[in-house]
Amino acid sequence: MGILHSVADLHFYIDVDDVLAETTRALAQLAQERFGKRVHFSEMNVFDLSVSLGLNKEEFSAFMAAAHERDFLLGLKPVSGGAGSLVRWREAGVKISVVTGRPPESRPATLDWLEHHGIPFDRLDFVDKYARYSDPKMTTLKNLLDRGYHTVIEDADATALYLVQNTDARVLLYDRPWNQNSKAEAHGALRVHDWTEIRRLADPAT
Ligand SMILES: [Mg+2]
Repeated sequence: MGILHSVADLHFYIDVDDVLAETTRALAQLAQERFGKRVHFSEMNVFDLSVSLGLNKEEFSAFMAAAHERDFLLGLKPVSGGAGSLVRWREAGVKISVVTGRPPESRPATLDWLEHHGIPFDRLDFVDKYARYSDPKMTTLKNLLDRGYHTVIEDADATALYLVQNTDARVLLYDRPWNQNSKAEAHGALRVHDWTEIRRLADPAT
């Protein structure tokens, strides 16, 4: 028998890139415009962008800098259904944590993008999801383990795997080309394809 939660106890984790924002489609476009790399989104079947876009070390650092420029981040298209879902959940009393692996310097642009698209939240966490930063003050995945998430929505397989293995959260893996061969799914994460499906699984009973 499952544990009954009142809505007031529910805490949802929602990733930004490729869950709320169509980031990687825009990154493929950026790689084409600035570096002449023609890679189709559907072919981006590994999480490491330097590999999927065929960028060498110098190209990749220039690419990542471009990918975190304010104008690039503000121009990202929202994933259809995301904003409306967070609005409804929050109205129903669910606590919303938007959790991103972007560098902390991109907080102002991220806040502006969320506001522009009407995406509400209780917390916005910048987390070193991919062990990219050596800053000891930065929030790590381990720091998230006692947040009491009920539902997690992620596209990064390693992050989804970590949370499915180390928390009681129900982990929804947003279907993307780079998570087709998923360890998280093998350990109990549920693959979801769009926000309609997410709502069917995650809407609190009313
Ligand atoms: Mg993501």
